[in-house]
Amino acid sequence: MRVAGIELGGTKVVVGAGTGPDDLSPTIRIPTTDPATTMAAIIDALESLKPFDAIGIASFGPLCLDPADPDGLRITNTPKPGWSQTPLVAPLVERFGVPVRLDTDVNGAALGEGRWGAARGLRDFAYITVGTGVGVGLVVNGAPVHGLLHPEAGHLLVRRDPVRDPYTGHCPFHGDCLEGLACGPAIAARVGAPAETLGDDHPVWPLVGDYIGQLCASLLLIIAPRRIILGGGVGQRPGVRAAAEAAMREHLAGYLQSPAFSQDIIVPPGLDSLSGVLGAIVVGQVTT
Ligand code: ADP
Ligand code: ZN
Repeated sequence: MRVAGIELGGTKVVVGAGTGPDDLSPTIRIPTTDPATTMAAIIDALESLKPFDAIGIASFGPLCLDPADPDGLRITNTPKPGWSQTPLVAPLVERFGVPVRLDTDVNGAALGEGRWGAARGLRDFAYITVGTGVGVGLVVNGAPVHGLLHPEAGHLLVRRDPVRDPYTGHCPFHGDCLEGLACGPAIAARVGAPAETLGDDHPVWPLVGDYIGQLCASLLLIIAPRRIILGGGVGQRPGVRAAAEAAMREHLAGYLQSPAFSQDIIVPPGLDSLSGVLGAIVVGQVTT
């Protein structure tokens, strides 16, 4: 099925169409500005990619994914100026007359990794991105988890040792939740320099790895993923994944036993920079 995929990010949108990585149109990049301008540009891009049988959107959130919600599938209350309560699905259904499916950016990334990347063939896995924020996409029994809203595991509360890490966190809601401690802006605020300028031996990396490891331990205890993919600018920093794997095992303290633990549970992403738009295409292909 040829699907148009829209990766809707906070700074840019990527639109493409195809059936998979070996059959993908050239992608079209659009800056994310105000909703009206951005949606008009997305519609122009989709016109140029016709024909397609469905549209998938993997978007920043928070999102309403409840098909019964009278206000429709949309971005809900986002701090991004102008974007709160922006409908995403109805305008495209009206314009193109094909099924339009919406999921979170991280569920999309997870689905793409499950179809073509580092979680191929698995039905239970997680995708974590640690970058501007911390996002977690979950696939359980082969389906992305939505539930009441959708998972927001980036805001998990983690243990912080105030002696080792006196930084009190920057999450406007929770202070020292995981995102408040481990995302790029939190690292920059803690050390006073952009995260990407820090050397590989900086002591912040094992600390960040420990917090991510706590999240991974909790995920194993709650949904028992077979694999956890760690992406994002911070998540793919050398040493962070290994530190997270070690911390996860330390926090689990041998309680979970499986032959799977002879290999790393936490792995790097398998898809490159096209993972967002490919994930959106899988979102559009989901028929249930
Ligand atoms: P986004 O989360 O916006 O999709 P990224 O995953 O690149 O994009 O995250 C951007 C954040 O990650 C910024 O806060 C940046 O400082 C940090 N970051 C990006 N690259 C690196 C790197 N190589 N090392 C450490 N931090 C990085
Ligand atoms: Zn938080």
